[in-house]
Amino acid sequence: MQDEEAVLERLKKEGIEFLQLQFTDLMGNVKSLTVPKNRFEDVIYNGIMFDGSSILGFKEIQNSDMKAVPELSSYILLSNENYAGKTVRFVCKIFNPDGTRFEGDPRYILERQVERLAKENKTYYVGPELEYFIFEQDEDGNPTVYPSDLGGYFDREPLDKSFTVKQEILQKLEAVNYYPEASHHEVAYGQHEIDVKYSTAVEMADRIIIIKSIVKETANAYGYHATFMPKPIKGINGNGMHVHQSIFSGDENLFYDERNKYGLSEYAMHYLGGILQYVPGAAPVLASTVNSYKRLIPGFEAPVYIAWANKNRSALIRVPHASPKGKRMELRFPDSAGNQYLQFAVILGMGLEGIENKIEPPEPVEKNIFEMSREERIKNGIKSMPGSLGQALDAFRESTLMKKILGDFMYDEFLKAKEKEWEDFRSHVTDWEIKKYLDLY
Ligand code: GLN
Ligand code: MG
Ligand code: MG
Ligand code: MG
Repeated sequence: MQDEEAVLERLKKEGIEFLQLQFTDLMGNVKSLTVPKNRFEDVIYNGIMFDGSSILGFKEIQNSDMKAVPELSSYILLSNENYAGKTVRFVCKIFNPDGTRFEGDPRYILERQVERLAKENKTYYVGPELEYFIFEQDEDGNPTVYPSDLGGYFDREPLDKSFTVKQEILQKLEAVNYYPEASHHEVAYGQHEIDVKYSTAVEMADRIIIIKSIVKETANAYGYHATFMPKPIKGINGNGMHVHQSIFSGDENLFYDERNKYGLSEYAMHYLGGILQYVPGAAPVLASTVNSYKRLIPGFEAPVYIAWANKNRSALIRVPHASPKGKRMELRFPDSAGNQYLQFAVILGMGLEGIENKIEPPEPVEKNIFEMSREERIKNGIKSMPGSLGQALDAFRESTLMKKILGDFMYDEFLKAKEKEWEDFRSHVTDWEIKKYLDLY
């Protein structure tokens, strides 16, 4: 009760006029409900009923009365200049009418995985690197795919034309205490990256919703369009979301062991072994769109093959040299055009499976895998990740582990939604085909 009272007091003191109650559907799309002042007390104490029937992956019409309960610790004052009054965002937990947690709520699925560690007093930390493009808008304010500048990696103003946009993004992230670490121009024209300090997985997934909207709103205020779409332009780098991970017990980083030649503990090696063994089945969660697989091709710093390394950036997982506290694993496969709760849940779930079954990872591969011949890869036992959403779904269908992590309900709903997306694309006749075949045959 104390919490609710304190939050109501804070809302009053800060002159808040609206609550924005948010949760995600299985694709990672943010769903939002705006609540005015007179409902604050009721909503903070009791949550709010809503009809879930039109939300992808939520309940059928006959059973659509869902309840959203705000997670009070996710209090964030939103910075959008266009709001009519001061607005605070809460992420919500979703409940069934009978008061049980809704098994299609992506946040609940991540909470369940994290809980497995919490029982042993361990904490899972993630630090994502979010890459995005800033594109021009046309005269009508519609997004184009023209990059806002011709800058490259770490370029600065005036070549980096979005320098001020990025400064403002950093200011806004600083204001909500997300501890932004750095922002820089990425490799491709008009491409940028924003890094924030690592945090616990659920909190980070809650934060990414806000980080993405801050990036988009700020770019828009300067007349640009920001996008996290994985591969908007053929021939230049796409947008990834590398995920740095570690597991701590209190102050101790359980991934670190100085006696091991890679500085990785046995615990970390098994975690790594689990991910490398199960990751093909997780592909449609980590790289969720048809477009994701256009990023994951050789030559653009995005991984294609299942291997790990210390330095090699063509590997799926990189283990940077780091201090005992900073020892971590960087998974380079995911992009942010998916559901971050589900992504962190499957990554952790695979790692824990490796720990429980003491799965040994293969030796690291320090050579550039993109330069190896097919024979060389086969000789070294290096397998490929799925090359399309269709192949990714094949692997997902075979994965009993994914079913275990996501639960039957989410597993089935996710598969249904993604199969539909894939079939829709597969039946689409593209411009490429018309250009290639129309004259020729
Ligand atoms: N953009 C690359 C990717 O798709 C990463 C490039 C980098 O961070 N150096 O993952
Ligand atoms: Mg980076
Ligand atoms: Mg990067
Ligand atoms: Mg990286």
